[in-house]
Amino acid sequence: MKSYKICKRCGHDYKTEQMFLATTKYVGVQSFAPYNLFSLELRNCVCETTLARRLPIGFDLQRA
Ligand SMILES: [Zn+2]
Repeated sequence: MKSYKICKRCGHDYKTEQMFLATTKYVGVQSFAPYNLFSLELRNCVCETTLARRLPIGFDLQRA
């Protein structure tokens, strides 16, 4: 099975999105509205590298 995400710097292998969310530290959300409907959630890997997770379209920033 393909990993959800692998850190390019330290090689930390996040097998699933759940594992990624549990292991990384929330940094913030980057919105591209109104040019793009999706937003990126920024989270720090264990090595402090910032990794981005694409949020589903329609994700409500007000509820985050
Ligand atoms: Zn890393």
